[in-house]
Amino acid sequence: MQHVLAATMQKPIADITQLPAQWSRIRGRLQSEVGELEYRNWLRQMTLAGIDGDEITVLLPTRFLCDWVRSRYGDRLNTLWREANPAVRRVDIRVGGGAAPVPALAESLATTIEPTPVVPNRFEERMDQRPELSIDPRFTFEAFVVGKPNEFAHACARRVAEQPSSPGFNPLFLYGGVGLGKTHLMHAIAWELVARGNSGAGRPVSVAYMSAEKFMYRFIAAIRSQQQMQFKEQLRSVDVLMIDDLQFLIGKENTQEEFFHTFNALVDVGKQIVVSADKSPSDLSGLDDRLRTRLGYGMVADLHATTFELRMSILEAKAARAGAAVPAKVMDFLAHKITSNVRELEGALNRLVAHANLFGRPITLEATQEVLHDILKAHDRRVSIEEIQKRVAEHFSIRLTDMSSARRARAVARPRQVAMYLAKQLTQRSLPEIGRRFGNRDHTTVMHAVSRVGELMTRDAVFAEDVELLRRLLES
Ligand code: ADP
Ligand code: MG
Repeated sequence: MQHVLAATMQKPIADITQLPAQWSRIRGRLQSEVGELEYRNWLRQMTLAGIDGDEITVLLPTRFLCDWVRSRYGDRLNTLWREANPAVRRVDIRVGGGAAPVPALAESLATTIEPTPVVPNRFEERMDQRPELSIDPRFTFEAFVVGKPNEFAHACARRVAEQPSSPGFNPLFLYGGVGLGKTHLMHAIAWELVARGNSGAGRPVSVAYMSAEKFMYRFIAAIRSQQQMQFKEQLRSVDVLMIDDLQFLIGKENTQEEFFHTFNALVDVGKQIVVSADKSPSDLSGLDDRLRTRLGYGMVADLHATTFELRMSILEAKAARAGAAVPAKVMDFLAHKITSNVRELEGALNRLVAHANLFGRPITLEATQEVLHDILKAHDRRVSIEEIQKRVAEHFSIRLTDMSSARRARAVARPRQVAMYLAKQLTQRSLPEIGRRFGNRDHTTVMHAVSRVGELMTRDAVFAEDVELLRRLLES
């Protein structure tokens, strides 16, 4: 981005020192106009790239977001900018970002650009006078879908939110892989505590939540400005301290030490601590032994990888929340395909819904494949004949062994033919090879199956859809 930030020769000259503050106000304004949810979904990722003459450039990280923002909010952004700064004539919305902001602006962007969050009054970000983005309003207990893999962690989180500092639950240590709901549960605890509102000491409860990274950043900043004492006091005055992604402190000895002392000071006076990490305390090698031991004193709860059932429930809940009509087939497909974590699953659904809204088209399997092309590709892998047999057997509720058995009953023979058809379509195997894998059948049997299934598909739409769904699920 080669934007000229210095004053150009043109008419009203934009005072660039004012841009960050103006931008911040514009964002705040948009946020209150469109609402928190919409803002977060679409606008939060906007960054100001700079000004060139009378044209402001705003960046969004993806083509899709960019198109969306341009079509939905482009005019409004133009108007707001013109109102805010008479030197501005036009706003150019482009794909970019992740890219560093233009140097002259970088410093101020980093500190002033985040809009003031919508946070209940009583909820204070204790560490800093200037409020900043802290607790995500979407991350509540109501919005958290409970299933086998997360029910224990969820129950522990609820317990802590209802009765902080109960014996046995302090500290609460939540761990699990990325995107499985650790941050969501921590924020939910914070919301619940704030909603209940009582610290037990006749004053509002004060909760501090921050990532371990931010903890370190604050700690270092405090040292630099010789305000360690204030920092310590602030930290130790909260009722509940939550530190997210503690693994970040591995290798950061001094910050660990500081955290350890804070931790002890709080626990000793009966304050609640909640910590998350990607591994259990015993597996966090590189973390101070004393700290690891103390972290394991309270309740340790893990969030397991999602199951198909949980992924389905999450999709159903999120689609309902978004008020989107997502066919069961599409959800089934997504829950099979996107198994890595909830964040990706949610991202895929959001994109689908947005796309459908944007173009006024219903959500179908075809549209799903098209819109999520890149995500799906990343999850693709080579499919084997065994997988095909397994999936098809499951789908038609027959035994896997029937794929190679001699039984000729229709209920068994038809699924077997479908599996052969898919093996031909989805693998590089030859007809004789496929035949061998289906109980040593002849290649002409496979050939017959392939043409028979193809023919049936043209005649029977329901059957065709079934096969199509299986193909998409297996497809490499
Ligand atoms: P982590 O902190 O473990 O990396 P997050 O808490 O940030 O993961 O979760 C990632 C995304 O998935 C968030 O948008 C969160 O709301 C969502 N999510 C995770 N688990 C669930 C769940 N059980 N129900 C609803 N949403 C979930
Ligand atoms: Mg997290």
